Amino acid sequence: MLRSVLRIKPWLKKCLARCRHCGIFFLTDPRNAGRRDLGCPFGCSRAHRQRQSTRRSVAYYQEPEGKVKKQALNARRRKTPGPPASTNPAPPELRPILQYVCVMVGLIEGRAVALWEVVVMLERTARQHRMVRTRRIDKSVAWLHGKPP
Ligand SMILES: [Zn+2]
Repeated sequence: MLRSVLRIKPWLKKCLARCRHCGIFFLTDPRNAGRRDLGCPFGCSRAHRQRQSTRRSVAYYQEPEGKVKKQALNARRRKTPGPPASTNPAPPELRPILQYVCVMVGLIEGRAVALWEVVVMLERTARQHRMVRTRRIDKSVAWLHGKPP
């Protein structure tokens, strides 16, 4: 799909990037064109950011200043009860993917694309795929589930 987009819109080749972790190709913002240290928006970038955060945190709490801070935090934690456990599960982490789709559609269409436009487009596409990609037998089974005899 990416190759066909680049064939039609060759000026986007400068935005082509390869994930340094998993090797997948993706389109990046023109401001990042030419960089070779990018992670893909499909999870590698976030995982790398999280690993770096953990590394910085571990390094900080091993310093004398950090050890004092951690001891104070742990002492305070023992005194105060924790927050009540949430009954709602965390929402899926779709926002990075949606933002990537925003950038990609904006690059392809050559205009600024809002997040809501992408959501509406994906909902419309999902509805269309459901109709097109289901086999006849699956449609019959779905119809029977909806209207049992
Ligand atoms: Zn990746």
